[in-house]
Amino acid sequence: MNKPKFAIEAKQLEKTYKASGKLPAKQALKGIDLQIPAGSIFGLLGPNGAGKSTFINILSGLVTKTGGSASIWGMDIDARPREARSAIGVVPQEINMDPFFTPMEAMELQAGFYGVPKSQRRTEQILDAVGLLDKKDAYVRQLSGGMKRRLMVAKAMVHAPPVVILDEPTAGVDVELRRSLWEYVGELNKAGTTIILTTHYLEEAEELCDEIAIINHGEVIASEPTPQLLKRLDHRSLIIYPKDPLQVVPPALSGVDASIRPDGALAITFRSSETGIGRLIETVREANISIEDLETEDPDLEDVFVEMTKA
Ligand code: ADP
Ligand code: MG
Repeated sequence: MNKPKFAIEAKQLEKTYKASGKLPAKQALKGIDLQIPAGSIFGLLGPNGAGKSTFINILSGLVTKTGGSASIWGMDIDARPREARSAIGVVPQEINMDPFFTPMEAMELQAGFYGVPKSQRRTEQILDAVGLLDKKDAYVRQLSGGMKRRLMVAKAMVHAPPVVILDEPTAGVDVELRRSLWEYVGELNKAGTTIILTTHYLEEAEELCDEIAIINHGEVIASEPTPQLLKRLDHRSLIIYPKDPLQVVPPALSGVDASIRPDGALAITFRSSETGIGRLIETVREANISIEDLETEDPDLEDVFVEMTKA
């Protein structure tokens, strides 16, 4: 397969779920346009309910779109569904695995499902890469949650797809495993695999991804290289806890973006690229505020949305 410019391209992609059972009808995707560069580690960032899984599930074929188009590795999912889908390996959000298979068996079944000839299977190599080689003959039900998730990653890789999609891969995964998972994902990417992951943690997307798209209420509100996105978001807050709670912002601080919190602390918002914390603290001291304690806060996703959706 020749390397296309985009691993995934979506145009005006829409999904409206019909009402079923307890769930009301819902327009989960409202015309998504996305271009995910081949070779990148791409983050799809958005709060719960934003439509991330819906997007992924349309690509994998679990959910049927109700409008627009999408292609995977240059192949339209309507015109060439089988080929398009063989170009992705998806690690779903929910762990779903038959407890009575061993990792080795689960991998072999998956390889068979994708029609990978026995001679081309790399089962042990993949299990080794996710740190499960010593568990290859254990029953899946004997594996820890983290091990199961790693096995799901391994299963998504049996047919050596050029694109691997991980839907909320760190949900319920401990810190140590997260590290090793990311290391492995990084190596895969270095070896040429395009990685797409969804997360609702800005920090995670920031640390791992070359590019980030932000999705909220079924709409893409930003999609750009991570450094560019962060530059737009470099607001931080400095919280000063004074020895005596404040009622009003002292006039001496009129030059900074300061407010008083209900607990009497002083909150100062600043751009970390422009203002140093040291300088700010000096300014506060010069305003005759004696500082009991202080902390800094990075923007959370909510701030990001407010910032992004500002006209
Ligand atoms: P995310 O993965 O970003 O948390 P989802 O794609 O799972 O978001 O969900 C997007 C929206 O679509 C949510 O409001 C969710 O409740 C709704 N939704 C998801 N699946 C269904 C379904 N099968 N039927 C009806 N609504 C659904
Ligand atoms: Mg989801």
